Amino acid sequence: MSRAKTIQDFLRSDIIDIEELLSLALDFSKSSLYANPNHKISATELARLDILIQKRQSGEPFAYLSGSKGFYHLDFKVTTDTLIPRPETELLIDISLDLFDSSESIKVLDLGTGSGIIAITLADKCSNWKVSATDQSEGALEVAKSNAQNTATEIEFSHGNWLDAVPNQIFDLIISNPPYVKDNDPHLADLKFEPISALISGVDGLDDIRTIIEQAPKQLNSGGYLLLEHGYNQQKEIMRLMRESFIDVRGFQDNNSIDRATIGRIK
Ligand code: GLN
Repeated sequence: MSRAKTIQDFLRSDIIDIEELLSLALDFSKSSLYANPNHKISATELARLDILIQKRQSGEPFAYLSGSKGFYHLDFKVTTDTLIPRPETELLIDISLDLFDSSESIKVLDLGTGSGIIAITLADKCSNWKVSATDQSEGALEVAKSNAQNTATEIEFSHGNWLDAVPNQIFDLIISNPPYVKDNDPHLADLKFEPISALISGVDGLDDIRTIIEQAPKQLNSGGYLLLEHGYNQQKEIMRLMRESFIDVRGFQDNNSIDRATIGRIK
């Protein structure tokens, strides 16, 4: 019989994300993995690890295997009902925190909240901000609500399509990371485990952004802002669309110097 494999045997392999997969399968922290290189992996642990390795090798993102992903200063539960939080989206948080002081009593709306990252991060940082969040996916809203419960935040969640979910409410800041990928974008092949409804938005990827830019003005306080995340080649057109109802329209780049967000103030 071949000898039982040890942690070290796996750490020395070139299996993708092996450190993370071992931590998950064995319920060991990364430092315990390195502190116990000769730990013999039991049959149960091995069965668990094999399944995780197979799933990861078939392209399933690690966040769906572990069920969580860090964003800004918090950890969020994620499921296949939600996109996996992207570091690029942290830009929306930085812009928002620069726009208003945390002590101001403002009303903020996160449209298409997914796992709740934007709404919950801002509410957690700025306890005076009254934060609302919407999603058209009941599954995503469940995840967002459970993430909010893990913090001291009180967020008002509403189900529905963009601003139709919060009729007659007025905000100082409306933020969204909506779907913005083109229907047939080849890049979708790499995103096949994520919910397609959170990714694609018509032939140019701008269908939802057009809806939001059209709906938002009626639900912004005077001087209120609309802040959108978007794709690398969409900023020019979004700025053009926004200038019909907004002033001070500005574009931002993410940490990779890619055009990633646009903001406007209501006329
Ligand atoms: N930034 C994501 C990606 O292309 C897309 C997210 C979105 O459509 N909001 O990986």
